[in-house]
Amino acid sequence: MKAPIMEVFSSIQGEGLLMGRRQIFVRFAGCNLSCNYCDTPESRDASSGERVSVEELHETVKGLITPDFHSLSITGGEPLLYPEFIEEFLDGSPYSALLETNGSLPENARRIAHLFDHASVDIKTPEHFSEDTRGDSTKSDISWSRDIIDREIQVVNILISKGANTYCKVVVMPTTRADYIGNLAKRLREDVDEPEKLSMVIQPCSSPGGWAGNTPRLLEMSQEAGKYMDVYVIPQMHRALGLR
Ligand code: SF4
Repeated sequence: MKAPIMEVFSSIQGEGLLMGRRQIFVRFAGCNLSCNYCDTPESRDASSGERVSVEELHETVKGLITPDFHSLSITGGEPLLYPEFIEEFLDGSPYSALLETNGSLPENARRIAHLFDHASVDIKTPEHFSEDTRGDSTKSDISWSRDIIDREIQVVNILISKGANTYCKVVVMPTTRADYIGNLAKRLREDVDEPEKLSMVIQPCSSPGGWAGNTPRLLEMSQEAGKYMDVYVIPQMHRALGLR
C-alpha cells in the first residue's frame, strides 16, 4: 500500500501540548480544506507528495530515531485522508504517535483513533477561510460553522473515547474576538462527552504579524475560554527558533 508523503524529518515539536518533544514528522500530502493561514500550502495537493509504501516509511523512520526521540507526529496536509495506510503503518508499531488533524473526517478518525496516544484537533473559525463563505469571527456568533464544528467535536469524542490525550487547537488572529473564543469553548464544554479530558490551545497566528499592541486580546481570549475549559496560550516555537 502507498500514500503520498511530502516529507519525513526529525525535529522539535513547536506547537501544542507536546511542544519541546523530539518527534519524527510524517507529513502527508493532500488536504480537504483550504485555510488562509496554512503554513504548509505546498502539502494541500496530494499530487505534490511522493508515493511511499508502508515498508519504505518504516525504514525511513528507523533511520531517523535519535536518543531523545519521543513520538511520531502524523501530520499533513490532512492525514485522516489516508486511514488504511496509517492503520497498516501504526498497527504493531513500537512508537508512540500524535495525530495532528483538521477534525473534519470523523468516519476516518473512527477507524484509526485507537492507534494514537496523543491528538491535536483543529477548531476552525471563519477567519481561517476566505471571506465570502464563512461569516465573520470578528463577531461573536459561531452558528456559521455548525457543520464543521459538529465534525470536529465528533472527532474529539472519538479520540478521547479511544484513550488519546487530546487537545483542540484554535488559531487566532489579532482581530479574533474574545467572546467568539468563549462561545467556542462553551460549545465544546456542552457537547464533548468528557470535557474534563480536553484542553484548548489558543495559538496566535504567526504569519500576519500585528500582535504588537494586541497581546492583551490574548489574555481576554484565555479568560473567556477559561470560563468553560482548561486553556493554554501557546505560540509556534519552531518558527521563533528557525526549526522546521
Ligand atoms: S487543514 Fe491544515 S493543512 Fe489543510 S489547509 Fe488548513 S491549515 Fe493547511
